[in-house]
Amino acid sequence: MRATSATIHLGALRENLRRVRELAPGARVMAVVKADGYGHGLERVARALEGADAFGVAGIADGQRLRAAGVSQRIVVLSGHDEAADLAEMRRLRLDTVVHSDAQVDLLAADADPRPLRVWLKLDTGMHRLGIPPERAREVHARLRALACVDRDIALMTHFANSDVFDDAMTTQQIERFERGVSGLDGERSLSNSAGVLGWPEAQGQWIRVGGALYGISVVAGRIGADFGFRPAMTLATRLVAVNRVRKGEYVGYAATWQAPEDMPVGVAAIGYGDGYPRHSDGATPVLVNGTRALVVGRVSMDLVTIDLRQHADAKVGDPVVLWGRGLPVEEIAAHADTIGYELTCGVTRRVRFVED
Ligand code: PLP
Repeated sequence: MRATSATIHLGALRENLRRVRELAPGARVMAVVKADGYGHGLERVARALEGADAFGVAGIADGQRLRAAGVSQRIVVLSGHDEAADLAEMRRLRLDTVVHSDAQVDLLAADADPRPLRVWLKLDTGMHRLGIPPERAREVHARLRALACVDRDIALMTHFANSDVFDDAMTTQQIERFERGVSGLDGERSLSNSAGVLGWPEAQGQWIRVGGALYGISVVAGRIGADFGFRPAMTLATRLVAVNRVRKGEYVGYAATWQAPEDMPVGVAAIGYGDGYPRHSDGATPVLVNGTRALVVGRVSMDLVTIDLRQHADAKVGDPVVLWGRGLPVEEIAAHADTIGYELTCGVTRRVRFVED
């Protein structure tokens, strides 16, 4: 059997939720589990995070999966409904919708079913992705309030564009725009994502919406989850399937991009971009071989990577190789691949065996 596996640390997920609550003691926690729980497995994550107050998902299909798995908490579809049929399904599954556009209000207004749906009204305070302009919050709120099919408790939310930069005035401006837009409106407030919780304690509101922190991943440049008291929830690992003696001047891998500077051992590990390991990097990406660091050399191929074993003279076929997770922060690998840890964990493919510990 191929040795490649992603171990999901259920205890780390639970511990990270506890840590989030410690950082935001006054807020309820919406655990964001979109993209299959940032690649960790939707149902598995929801089970581990049963202490969360709600789950945030990208679409109704995720809500269906969570309800089928027995999840009873509130589930919020973060981009809301797209068409009339969505409303019936959301009602059936008790999913909250997010209203970010007039078109969505129109769909609710045309809905003949009087059983109320829970609505989160989303304001665009500067991200310019989804949301109603704050100046229009009262008007849209009033329109929603007048509808029999909308629950009277309308939550008010916005999303930060740059909260991971703790000294950026943009977040302060977003908070101010939000406060101005919702002033005088009743309803629970929700502003912060993970970085918001870490850097902007004044913006906790009644609900925080956290993803990355629960998976132990930081998007703050140069900082890893552990710097904030979080533990990695995924370890991606495999084994050496070959150890080759390569002569000085020989090339390794596709396109012959790397040349051995001396006679040396090169390990081959059973992981590649077909598993979600990033193909592009700056050429200095570390792995752990038998628990200590070594560098990936040459092109990453679909099923395999090659590793400089000069510092691992004893390494042999079958020895463990960790790509990221415990002992090797995913944020560090992401930095070498010019991306963020979220993209790496989301990208682990289905052929990787998932195990839980
Ligand atoms: N809220 C919304 C609307 C989101 O789209 C996301 C994720 O991108 C989050 C909260 C959670 O963000 P993070 O994973 O950085 O905590």
